[in-house]
Amino acid sequence: MDFLSADSLPWLQSAQTRMRAALAAQRLPHSLLVLSTPGLGAEQLASWITALALCECRGVRPCGVCASCQLLRSDCHPDSHVVRLEEDAQQIKVDQVRDLIDSLSLKSYRGGFKVAVIEGAESLNANGANAFLKTLEEPTANTVLIMIARPNHRLPATIASRCLRMTLSPPPTEVAMAWLKQRAEAHPTAGGAAGFPQARSWDAALALAGGAPLRALELDAASVAALDSDMRESLQQLGAGSVDVTLLAERWIKSNPGLRIAWLENWITRRVHEWTTAGNSHQSAEPVRLPAALLKAKIRALFELLDAARELRRFASTGMNQQLALEAFLLGGRTALAN
Ligand SMILES: [Zn+2]
Repeated sequence: MDFLSADSLPWLQSAQTRMRAALAAQRLPHSLLVLSTPGLGAEQLASWITALALCECRGVRPCGVCASCQLLRSDCHPDSHVVRLEEDAQQIKVDQVRDLIDSLSLKSYRGGFKVAVIEGAESLNANGANAFLKTLEEPTANTVLIMIARPNHRLPATIASRCLRMTLSPPPTEVAMAWLKQRAEAHPTAGGAAGFPQARSWDAALALAGGAPLRALELDAASVAALDSDMRESLQQLGAGSVDVTLLAERWIKSNPGLRIAWLENWITRRVHEWTTAGNSHQSAEPVRLPAALLKAKIRALFELLDAARELRRFASTGMNQQLALEAFLLGGRTALAN
């Protein structure tokens, strides 16, 4: 368990400070629900909180060197349990939850806390969630349960309401950019074989990653560029009416739908910005001047499109028919997207 890496993610610092204070006051929560989109380091934070609870040092915790920290670092601490989706599984299995509950009902091996982390808690099915509920309702002493879920999770309210909530948000762009640049300098091969030699590429990757720095780090420069040109071309074809909307939606759903929707959101946001500045600036010759009424209508259409794109992103994780939603978006936004 790599809990030390949380210290290198500056946007987690306030959460860490809060948990340290809770531990010092002997008020570490029994159950914590960390809400986070992927790429913000929620897993690293959960590992760090595990270490905070289990570290046996008297000084600043987690120390990283005591017996307990060493056991954690080699993934063999008997009081630390992690449950996540097994490979190729759609749901966390009830057996996984039962095993966890059994382990938590035992005494702590090392005499301190027992900590369980459930990654991707929204993948618990109804049976798993029910089995888990009793553990939440009657927590055993010195037990810390940490669940990680997306902000739009559909966990039963009976579960969510029993947890202390902690929401991770993307850091301000300057913080994320500074962190990415530092990472790129420290690890020149980070971000795929091509690396990210230019600051501009980081911009694009960070925007596509919805501001999540760890996700941006995973996107390599070549695929960001390829996606960008593919999307521009698609919009041109859409405007010219030379592409079948159903086929286009089908193709997007098949390859990187999440990134494509993020790209659309960024693109529309930039257009809104361009047209708003065009309306305010008297010297501006580009883009082409429009009469005020037309300009207003255009900006309004773009804002509506932006709302629709955000709605589309929310759809993406609900299992609703994405293909239909995307088709409706493309048909409805055709005019505004084209020019
Ligand atoms: Zn320690």
